[in-house]
Amino acid sequence: MKRIPEPFRIKMVEPIRMTTLADRQEALKLAGYNPFALRSEDVYIDLLTDSGTGAMSDTQWAGLMLGDEAYAGGRNFYHLQAAVEDIFGYRDFVPTHQGRGAEQILFPCLVDKLREERGGQQPVFLSNFHFDTTAAHVELAGGKAINIVDERAFETDLLYDWKGNIDLEKLKACIAHYHAENIAGIIVTITCNSTGGQPVSMASLKAVYQLAKQYQIPVIMDSARFCENAWFIKHREACYQGHSIKQIVAEMYQYADMLTLSAKKDPMVNIGGLCAIRNDRALFQDVQTRCVPMEGFITYGGMAGRDMEALARGLYEGLDEDYLTYRIKQVEYLAYRLQQAGVPIQLPAGGHAVFVDAKKIVPNIPAEQFPAQVLCNALYLEAGIRAVEIGSLLAGRDPVTKRQKPSPVEFLRLTIPRRVYTNDHMDYVADALINVVSQANNLSGLEFEYEAPVLRHFTSTFKLASG
Ligand SMILES: *Cc1c(COP(=O)(O)O)cnc(C)c1O
Repeated sequence: MKRIPEPFRIKMVEPIRMTTLADRQEALKLAGYNPFALRSEDVYIDLLTDSGTGAMSDTQWAGLMLGDEAYAGGRNFYHLQAAVEDIFGYRDFVPTHQGRGAEQILFPCLVDKLREERGGQQPVFLSNFHFDTTAAHVELAGGKAINIVDERAFETDLLYDWKGNIDLEKLKACIAHYHAENIAGIIVTITCNSTGGQPVSMASLKAVYQLAKQYQIPVIMDSARFCENAWFIKHREACYQGHSIKQIVAEMYQYADMLTLSAKKDPMVNIGGLCAIRNDRALFQDVQTRCVPMEGFITYGGMAGRDMEALARGLYEGLDEDYLTYRIKQVEYLAYRLQQAGVPIQLPAGGHAVFVDAKKIVPNIPAEQFPAQVLCNALYLEAGIRAVEIGSLLAGRDPVTKRQKPSPVEFLRLTIPRRVYTNDHMDYVADALINVVSQANNLSGLEFEYEAPVLRHFTSTFKLASG
């Protein structure tokens, strides 16, 4: 497979430290066998997340020096507004501290709007898959978060281009079941992280939007990886081959009414977010009103002026075609190496990560003993690489019955930060994981030493399962 050289030169370096096996055994023990509790210094290659871990460009760093830190009306806000309007076609927006900042102000406004305009009493949000903070903010706003996944999405062996799509028939059935006047919004997550960084096709975006309009349901684009999604549309949906990424993005956003965005992903800043609204002044005024106490004044929200400048520039860098091709091909290269060695992964590879199917690697370890977490720990011990579990541990317990929620998958996610690691790092990761997988039948399951009551994957500690 052809490797795409990094389309940048390296101007500044950050050393990373290789450790010995004994160091790692000690560090993992201290971390309670939970990679979230490792110190970053004890990690050689950190593939925990692509969130806020990207490398800013020289242009973005230069932008930091041009921050206007006025409380109100700072110039960087207007630069950001121009970029948001130019790229998404939405003029009304507030900057927020992260994606979840946008969620915490928008969702309560949508719930209020539903109550006032349609009398809906049991607000429901429908989505191809709610991101974890997205589901949490839906629930905090008094809503119910329903995921509508295409059956094919979790068949990891199946090569299907659009594993992020909402199943339209299921969506229709859901609207009939909950009644349109109870549905506060349809959240389309692009790309769909939970199914493996899988894209949503333009045809699906359009069909969902048309259906939503028929029932007057607002559509929210959960936009963290909108550039990667556009790249997939260009390369997989025949009629978009001749379009630029920017043109594709412009069309994508015609099929939504508003967006929330974690700027820590595709726009390559270390912190920041946006909430933008296309054509609903009353809703936007509610959002502004809620922004002030929750995030900050409307022209800075949750961000410093300098950070808004870096974001205004990063939004354009994320759209760069050469960069995106390198980015997605780098992830694909890692996937290819693993696949060649027979390591089962979610196919095709996603935009930001390779999802390794732990169920198939350690079939003897039951879901309650967290097979993907076992593999994460083994990979860390092998080579100092930190991955993350996306499976039963993350799914958690049912809040009412306290039973382990069933998880459709047990994934180990290798999440690739943007512009940070080279293709040689990918080879190192592939070699290490292949080695771990070849000895996987020696691994045993985990059980809790301490189980945190909420969002347990972050802070729980573990020990080897008995028996
Ligand atoms: C990261 C992310 C969020 C939340 O954004 P934060 O910046 O982490 O608060 C929401 N939705 C999706 C799809 C994300 O990837």
